[in-house]
Amino acid sequence: MSQGHVVIIGAGHAGGTAAALLRQYGHEGPITLVGEEPIAPYQRPPLSKAWLKGEADADSLALKPLEFYAEANIGFRPNVRATKISRSARTVALSDGSELSYDKLILATGARAIALPIPGADLKGVMALRTAADAEALKAAVGPGRKLAVVGGGYIGLEVAASGRALGAEVVVLEREDRILARVACKVLSDFFQGYHEQHGVRFELGCSVTGFEGKDGHVTGVTLADGRTIPCDAAVVGVGAAPNDEIASDCGLETARGVVVDLDARTSDPDVFAIGDVAHRPMPIYDRMFRMESVPNALEQAKQAASAIVGKPRPAGECPWQWSDQYDLKLQIAGYAFDVDEVLVRGEPASGKFAVFHLKGDQIQSVEAINAPPEFMMGRQLILNRKPVDKAKLVDPAVSMKEVVA
Ligand code: FAD
Repeated sequence: MSQGHVVIIGAGHAGGTAAALLRQYGHEGPITLVGEEPIAPYQRPPLSKAWLKGEADADSLALKPLEFYAEANIGFRPNVRATKISRSARTVALSDGSELSYDKLILATGARAIALPIPGADLKGVMALRTAADAEALKAAVGPGRKLAVVGGGYIGLEVAASGRALGAEVVVLEREDRILARVACKVLSDFFQGYHEQHGVRFELGCSVTGFEGKDGHVTGVTLADGRTIPCDAAVVGVGAAPNDEIASDCGLETARGVVVDLDARTSDPDVFAIGDVAHRPMPIYDRMFRMESVPNALEQAKQAASAIVGKPRPAGECPWQWSDQYDLKLQIAGYAFDVDEVLVRGEPASGKFAVFHLKGDQIQSVEAINAPPEFMMGRQLILNRKPVDKAKLVDPAVSMKEVVA
């Protein structure tokens, strides 16, 4: 059984899960979980959804109650940042001046919201949404009649827009591309979501370039665009993507490629150092390629991989990556990634609010985006994982059940 000291840098979804799994899998040695945030590991998805709308309380965000860490003999060190790793000495220097020695090290430092390097970005009321503290600030700024500008029409921006409407705010989404979700979804989905948001009162400015923020007395009052217009607002949320917190890894000579490069056991170029979650650039065998993912299922999966490798358990079975987004009464579930796609097929009618978009390479499904359509998501995920060819005529016919499509 594994006995050494495991140090985990980053007390987020991946780090917190890895600590718990190590104990569950029987690791007997000390575990130290170091996190720069003031609170125990928590879930971020509700920050743009239920929690922002006031439908979930702070306690419900926590991955585990605080007592769990002491009871499981996990040394949890909040409010402390790991500043430097020495791989030759096997130590981690911390921002409080102390140092930890490790036998195995797990990097679970996540990602950070990308800031826009434009004038006025430091005004009060210009916000990012990554942490519980960010969400507190946003919630305080959004309310009936308040004007909220959302910069970036990706999933987080759209979730904030939906929650903003639920809270009675006037919401405008500003997007640089000529459609929302341009980086992550096909046009069918972009058009569907734009229409649904518009029905709920969200206004869109597409193909616009944000050049700065205007303010009065240090507080934001508007977003300026390259075409000379100013969009008035009381608060602005910038949701233009996230960058991996991988500097601590590259500084100590670990291989990075916009994320820390790992193998199927979440092991880095140093056999005693692992990287998991948003910070990892990992292999995905079903696509025969490496990439970085930002999702809770990925954080959980990689926590399993690292904990298994450390205690000597067999490697978990290969997975099909997935994620979700909730907006209004829409539940979007996405399985797989649309790599090298040559055909897009729609099953069901978007106007019904219940349909699925399948992305195919030849007769294999690469990914599925399912709106209020759990069977399409679940069976689609199975087909992606098994790399089974699919009968396209059956796939697009909603009269044929997904069970039959899979059979
Ligand atoms: P994080 O949870 O970000 O944790 C990393 C932690 O490490 C942070 O607490 C950070 O402060 C800390 N840290 C960084 N550097 C250091 C250091 N040097 N020393 C100490 N601590 C450090 N995913 C989904 O699948 N579905 C969703 O609907 C969804 N919605 C989301 C909504 C929002 C608003 C956000 C922000 C994310 C959402 N995600 C969603 C993504 C998901 O939350 C992340 O993929 C997941 O949190 C990744 O876990 P992680 O542990 O890798 O990173």
